Parts: sequence; C-alpha cells; structure tokens
Amino acid sequence: MGSGAGRAPSWTTEPLRTARRAAALLVAAALGACGDGPAGPDPEELTLELVSGAGQVGLESWPLLEPIVVRAVNREGAAVAGVHLTFSTAEGHGIPLGREAETDPAGTASVRWQVGSATEPVQTLTVRVTGGTAALDVEARVVGPEAADHVVARGAGGPLRGFALVRPGAPLEVLASRPTADTALAVPLVNAPGVELLVFGHDNRPLWAAPAWTPARDTVTLELLPAVPLVLDVHVQVGEFDAQKAIIQDQVAEAAGIWWAEGVGVAFDTVRFFDETSAGAEVHLSSSGLCARSVPDDAIQVYVVSSIDGGNVTGWGCWAGHIWLAEGTDRFPTLLAHELGHTFTLEHTERGLMFPNRPGRGLTEGEIFRAHFHAESALNRIFGAQPAALLRACHLDPSPCLDERYRVDAAPGALVAARPGGP
Ligand SMILES: [Zn+2]
Repeated sequence: MGSGAGRAPSWTTEPLRTARRAAALLVAAALGACGDGPAGPDPEELTLELVSGAGQVGLESWPLLEPIVVRAVNREGAAVAGVHLTFSTAEGHGIPLGREAETDPAGTASVRWQVGSATEPVQTLTVRVTGGTAALDVEARVVGPEAADHVVARGAGGPLRGFALVRPGAPLEVLASRPTADTALAVPLVNAPGVELLVFGHDNRPLWAAPAWTPARDTVTLELLPAVPLVLDVHVQVGEFDAQKAIIQDQVAEAAGIWWAEGVGVAFDTVRFFDETSAGAEVHLSSSGLCARSVPDDAIQVYVVSSIDGGNVTGWGCWAGHIWLAEGTDRFPTLLAHELGHTFTLEHTERGLMFPNRPGRGLTEGEIFRAHFHAESALNRIFGAQPAALLRACHLDPSPCLDERYRVDAAPGALVAARPGGP
C-alpha cells in the first residue's frame, strides 16, 4: 500500500491555495485533461516535518524498531496528500527499505530504515520531496552486537513471520526478522532476565519460549508446531447444491490463501458438505439470537441460507463457531474468511479482512495473536489449539499481558515491533 505506487497520477483533496492554480485546474478541466494536468501540489511550496522515528538506537545491519514518519506541509502549514517522496542514505549508512512513497490523506509517509555497520556510530537518512527543494535528515545511533542484547533462534525449520517479546510492566523494545532457518532477534540496550518469546511461522501456530537473557547474544532452539487443522461443516440449505458448494470452495481457497500469506498458523483439514436443500425451499433469518446457539464440538458450522435480516446482511459469524452466509455472497470472495475471523473472536476494523461489508485481505499481528490466544476463540473452544503455557501468566481476561499481545500490531507482512507501554 504505498511504496512503489508513487508514480501514479495523484488527485488530492486539499483546498486550492492560489488563484493561479485554481485557474490552471479550470483550464485543465475545460480541456478534458485528466492525467497530464497540474495534479497534486507544487513541490516548491512544500516543506517536510518529522512526525516520529528520529533518535533511535539500532543494531547494526538491522532495521530500526520504528519507521521514520514524515509529513509534507504547504506554506500555510497544512498537511498535503499525494506528495511524492524519495528516501536515501549516504554510503555506509544502511538502506531505506523502500526508495519512494507518496503521502497519505494525512500528509504523512513512512519508511523503514535498515542501518549500516556500527563503524559509523551516527547515521543519516534523507527524505526529499520529488521535484522540490525540501529535504529532511533523520539520524540514528548504531551499536554493534557486543553492545546490544539479542537472541538467535535456531531450528525454526521454516519461514518465521514474527516475534513478540513480552515483559509485563516494563518498557521493552523488540525487533524481529523473517529469514529462513536461523532467526535473530535484537533488542538493543535492554538487560533484563525472564523475557518471553512468542513466535509463529507462515504455516505454524504460535509457540512460546523463555530464552535465556544475558547482556549479549543468546540462543534459543525452536521447534514450530504445525498449523491448527480446521474442520468445517457446510450445510447448504437453499439454492442449487453443486453451485453453492463451488462458491464455498472458492471462499475456502481465499481464506486459506489469506491465512498462509499472513502467517496465521491455521489451515483447513476437512470441509464437509451437507445437501440440505429441498426444491424451492427458502430460509430467511433474523440475525438476532443466531449466536445464542450451543457451541459446536468438533467443527465450525456454516449455513448457506436465502437471506439474513431481509437482505441487509450478507454474512454472520459468531464466537461460538457458527456462520451464516446469504445466497449471492460470491460477490464478496473473502466473506467466509471474514466470518471465520469472527469465530476467532476478531472484531471489525477500519481496513483489512475484518472491515465490514467489503472485507479486504490483511490481518494485523495483534489480530493473529488474539485469534489464537483469546479463550473464546473457536481455535481454542472447538479445536483445543491453545498451548497452555502461553496463558500461564494470563489467566485473567482481560489481563494486561493478553491485551499487550493483542495490540502488537504492525502492517501485514511488516516487521513486528512491540513496545509495551510504561506504567
Ligand atoms: Zn463482520
């Protein structure tokens, strides 16, 4: 979402600031030009402000914990969307993980920065407005392995998605990566015994470990657990059975793809179809009370019905493990994945798979943790997937440590960064 798309024509919503530009736009509109016209702000009128990410301490050759976030503003100090920015570093100062970006509706853009060798203890990343003169330097301090605590995880045996190191009640900075066999986890300048490590892979359920933690390099050996095998019972109650079955199979494939891409650690084991149609029969439901049904004991139950709430609702999923899909839901290919998210206790969000009505594809790290660790999740209630050790210190719900894990949110596919708050 962002980097790489920077060259597309951008149409912004910020108010026009000068009559000259307004006139130019009117001319462009009159000529029917849409693409070559003066889209976007005049780069020469813009400046850059730092929003966050300066002054970090990073481990050499690793991405900094926090992204560098900047804002483009015009002469009146108002944020400007659609500004094309480039990121660069001097020789020996690492690499920006993304060479360009465009500011979002809030006028901000971000980049992750993988710093260079600690032989350069202070390093600089430069952000520039394309076509303009505005530039901003951001500094970071870089330390070598001898000056930082870090953990190397061995034996993971597969691509790891991420980590969260959790130490309730204390500030903790965490950095993780996603290489293949050996995985290093760097936590600069923290010396603390008794940390916890949560790790999960593309096709592995989360795993807990308590690595040794000394002021230097430590090693933990991991053996990831296989994905939680999910069983679905699909009751087709209306329509033409084979056609409905094909739609559900497509939606199962969509869900499986999302889970793998996001490293959710859940996979379909068996999907059982039941033909409960009878000629011309229709099933119209009200959503109220649907979730009061008893908890299924060995499979998530999916029902294909005619309509829910008079056609206002396309799908309904309950924590207990029931899902109803209205006929015609093939318009929303990720709907089943969305409703399965509800059975994992996930709630609606402003974007991604759990966006209501038109679900997207992405899940956050926090959602993935919640899906596994919430006691009411179908993964636990139906499939018994919850490793008890993970909750040994989290027996209260809500509990501070669970809440902390839930909000270990990063952009899907991004590095995991956790920063438990202070007191
Ligand atoms: Zn929903």
